[in-house]
Amino acid sequence: MSAGRAQARITFLGTGTSSGVPMIGCTCAVCTSSDPRDKRLRPSIFVEVPGRIRILVDTTPDLRQQALTYGITRVDAILYTHGHADHVLGLDEVRRYNHMQGGAIPCYADRTAWETIRRTFSYVFDGVPRLGGGIPRIEAHELSGPIVLGGVKVVPVPLWHGEMPILGYRFGSFAYLTDCNRLHDDAWALVEGVETLVIDALRHKPHTTHFTVAEALEVIARIGPRRAWLTHMAHELGAAATNAGLPEGVELAYDGLVLDVAVDVHDIH
Ligand SMILES: [Zn+2]
Ligand SMILES: [Zn+2]
Ligand SMILES: [Zn+2]
Repeated sequence: MSAGRAQARITFLGTGTSSGVPMIGCTCAVCTSSDPRDKRLRPSIFVEVPGRIRILVDTTPDLRQQALTYGITRVDAILYTHGHADHVLGLDEVRRYNHMQGGAIPCYADRTAWETIRRTFSYVFDGVPRLGGGIPRIEAHELSGPIVLGGVKVVPVPLWHGEMPILGYRFGSFAYLTDCNRLHDDAWALVEGVETLVIDALRHKPHTTHFTVAEALEVIARIGPRRAWLTHMAHELGAAATNAGLPEGVELAYDGLVLDVAVDVHDIH
């Protein structure tokens, strides 16, 4: 087995909080802004490693729209961060990929997330035969440590989302830490040396389950990546005004942002 690095392309499919931005019925400056960076679908990223694998992180309620907008015509694996509605409710859209690809899709989550997903999508797991459109076909895998998918190393990073343990993911030089307000003690070693960091920053006002901008900046300073991008933003954070107050190298992510990063690969010869 030989280890090395490969280029990966990260596409941000959504960078908004659970309600999306604009919010239904809101007339605030950000919700009515004409800046495309202020239009945020529910949070998700797509990780493509050419010739190896295409990984979707979370299946949001906006998955169909995201897949059409960004031309996602194949998904080889799905990683779940946790079981909240804004991260899982698009699971039924997987049917389309089952049909195009002719098989079930391997999905990875921790035990807590699987408990929620099984409850939320009981029709997928109850074994009752159904006529008509069918159900998404997935292979459920419980994560308990790093895995290798299509030769690409994926490291789950334990985070706290209020009282709920959830997972961020590291792929080589890149880490995606959404929906958290604290890193697990074990997480710091796992994100050491990350060059491109994505981290939750909901708004400026404190929240019980999400980092504020100031808290996210403290974590960024401690990890010390070359670039950091904030995600899961609520409508309090307009892109132009917020970016103007951020330190060098830190910016709000936006829907459609594409990053090229180096991931760790393991080849068996
Ligand atoms: Zn969320
Ligand atoms: Zn608003
Ligand atoms: Zn959440």
